[in-house]
Amino acid sequence: MQDSKHRGVSLLHDPLRNKGTAFSAAERDALGLRGLLPPRSHTLAEQERRVLGNIRSKATDLDKYLFLIALQDRNETLFYHVLMNNIEEMMPLVYTPTVGAACQAFGHIYRRPRGMYISINDRGNVREILRNWPHDDVRVIVVTDGERILGLGDLGANGMGIPVGKLSLYTACAGIAPQFCLPVTLDVGTNNRELLDDELYIGLERLRERGDAYDELVQEFIAAAEERFPGVLVQLEDFGNANAFRLLSSLREGHCVFDDDIQGTGAVTLAGIISALRLTGTPLAEQRLLFYGAGQANIGAAAMVVAALREEGVAEEAAREVCWFFDSTGLLVSSRASIPAQKQPYAKDHAPVADLAEAVAAVRPTALIGASGQPGTFTREIVGAMAQHNERPIIFALSNPTANAECTAEQCYNWTGGRGIFASGSPFAPVEYEGRRLVPGQGNNAYIFPGVGLGVITSGARRVTDDMFLAAAHCLSRQVGEEQLQSGQLYPPLAEIRTVCTRIAVEVAGLAWDNGLSDRERPADVAAAVEAMLYDPVYPHYA
Ligand code: NAD
Repeated sequence: MQDSKHRGVSLLHDPLRNKGTAFSAAERDALGLRGLLPPRSHTLAEQERRVLGNIRSKATDLDKYLFLIALQDRNETLFYHVLMNNIEEMMPLVYTPTVGAACQAFGHIYRRPRGMYISINDRGNVREILRNWPHDDVRVIVVTDGERILGLGDLGANGMGIPVGKLSLYTACAGIAPQFCLPVTLDVGTNNRELLDDELYIGLERLRERGDAYDELVQEFIAAAEERFPGVLVQLEDFGNANAFRLLSSLREGHCVFDDDIQGTGAVTLAGIISALRLTGTPLAEQRLLFYGAGQANIGAAAMVVAALREEGVAEEAAREVCWFFDSTGLLVSSRASIPAQKQPYAKDHAPVADLAEAVAAVRPTALIGASGQPGTFTREIVGAMAQHNERPIIFALSNPTANAECTAEQCYNWTGGRGIFASGSPFAPVEYEGRRLVPGQGNNAYIFPGVGLGVITSGARRVTDDMFLAAAHCLSRQVGEEQLQSGQLYPPLAEIRTVCTRIAVEVAGLAWDNGLSDRERPADVAAAVEAMLYDPVYPHYA
């Protein structure tokens, strides 16, 4: 006889154990479920078809998102079964771009809590609060303070949609079991006036905390998380610029922490560049990369480019020379007054240039990489100029969601006579160009962070290093086939993401052991250790 938590109505309300109509007759008898479900038993495959029918009948993507989240809340096995089997269709719903719309409307569509909310008023009590979480074996936390949600800015506590979505990708892409994952939002207020004026907003009604109290909350949270969940991996997510760089550099040496917006984006962008260079046939050291936007994404990408060049034996200074930046103040030049620390290595001895088209003319970049949040800024003139001085211009429009992209895939192909090598942050559909089918690459961080996370938790690594992200980038690019590459795809198909993430995990775990970052004994077969960790969304037999 199972305890009351694991039988009857309680069992139907436990999303990790619930099977819905898939409980067999024997299970219904044994678990006190007779009469609580309609008589007919369905298989997981039949349930999947029911779910897909429902999702596809919804009029808007936000309705589809709501349906999926409700499914996740009542039956996680079915949710992940659907997500994994239909990843190309589902990923844009549970993550960018739809999750952006969900976060904007979060207070209005709110139904059930998922994850933990810790507010600035909870300082001094965070340890106690974490004890309320029902699962003791948490291995990955994704935490945000909601200040820079995708390219949408400060959404305060509404940002919770992001840790929830990212962790569902840890499970779907890298097979990390859902009960090992904890989404957290640190609510330190919001400077978004519209949200503060909205009676349905779910967060604190106050402006953002900026002072010592903020740092105290973050430090208390990290310490409490490590105490409650020893060895936990913490992914920093969608923090504002000023805090993201600061937190990463203060936490990375002493804790098992990484920032996906900086390091994850850096690795996925580098992988795209490496794939693109297979098409141009030119070495990385000979590129001139013009990064448009000098925030977390592009600074992270440049750091990875420099790391890749260092690995090839290029000196640090020469490696930095490859990376040019253009931000809201113009071309990043050394004569500019007060340059933040993270941008300083890339400031060039060059006359100031205020206009992007002029910067393209002056720098003559081989690649233009947009992560500015500024839609439509790669104009016909600019993309055309790239095509004039490059046989195969590399154009990445990484800003999310889709409406924020610097240019569309179609524009890139049309304005470069089909020669442009394109990648975006949010997905774009394939484009027919003069009888050819061109398939844009999606530089989705989901190719990187789940595999890195799986490698870290499999090995029990104490730290997350740039070497791990570099290895992940190379591993990702290696998995793009020649035929895929010729059609423009710089990343492997999403349908293969589970294999991709598993391979990345094997490399990352191997590095952790190679570099003495794990106290656990190295298994004879690292790949088998990674495989053994993988969660499969199939129902257990209870009777
Ligand atoms: P951020 O706020 O840290 O940085 C934005 C940068 O853009 C800043 O340097 C800012 O100066 C610059 N900028 C703003 N207006 C500009 C203008 N008019 N001209 C030139 N530069 C301008 O944000 P972030 O984390 O770097 O993200 C930027 C964008 O990249 C977002 O839209 C985000 O969704 C996207 N992103 C994509 C991926 C991906 O494709 N995998 C990953 C992370 C972020």
